[in-house]
Amino acid sequence: MKVCVNKDQCIGCGACAAIEPNVFEIGDDGLSNVLVEKVPEENKDNVIEAIDSCPTSAIEEEN
Ligand code: SF4
Repeated sequence: MKVCVNKDQCIGCGACAAIEPNVFEIGDDGLSNVLVEKVPEENKDNVIEAIDSCPTSAIEEEN
């Protein structure tokens, strides 16, 4: 599983980083960055929760 954040849609609310700080962080630009190339197995459930929780649907799953 790979994810990316659409910076045009992210509003920097921090929800994703709060849910899964191993995968998402709020960067210097105030927007979410993805920290990993591939989501570790143990972080997948939280990443799916983050995707569902993002208020602007900015987190996209890549195949
Ligand atoms: S939850 Fe969505 S809008 Fe909020 S910081 Fe993460 S990607 Fe951006």
